[in-house]
Amino acid sequence: MTALPRGGAPAEALAEVEASIEDRWRRFLEEYGVTAGTEAENDLAESVVADTSAFEWRVVDAALDRLACADCGNALGAGPTGCGRCDQANGFQFAAIETDRPATPPGTEHGLRVATAVARTRHRYGARARCGFELGLPLLLGGELPGTPQAQAYRAAINKLTEEECERVTSFEEVTRLSSRRVR
Ligand SMILES: [Zn+2]
Repeated sequence: MTALPRGGAPAEALAEVEASIEDRWRRFLEEYGVTAGTEAENDLAESVVADTSAFEWRVVDAALDRLACADCGNALGAGPTGCGRCDQANGFQFAAIETDRPATPPGTEHGLRVATAVARTRHRYGARARCGFELGLPLLLGGELPGTPQAQAYRAAINKLTEEECERVTSFEEVTRLSSRRVR
């Protein structure tokens, strides 16, 4: 599990999403009659990663967690940027299937998927990018998709913060409050 350093609602949301990823993988293993912790689980994870477009994103994320990168030794796709194998796995994971939940705006699940990926491999992104995505996690998990003007307003506000503030804030309300004191 990834403990999100900023804490608050984003950390709680990430923990909930990660639990759903693990839950989905357990059901996936049952569907394939595979026991956790066996060579067969490893083979299944390999086959998922080989064709991410055929599987739900939670299954793909769980499979990546279970495989080690042969080049850098981290979980596959979670190594430093510049590890070619991780960069590739990181890119392929976004080909996975994203099914919007009932009564949520189209694209909410994609947003949740991307925000989760950023939060789980946050060292691969800059402070401002991970601030925006991580603060968005609780909204997206709650089935809320900020519209373009709203997203742009959040981005503009984040750009007024220092990187240290970006790492500390736990809500868009806090970002708005801090940024409104800035002249820039
Ligand atoms: Zn790697």
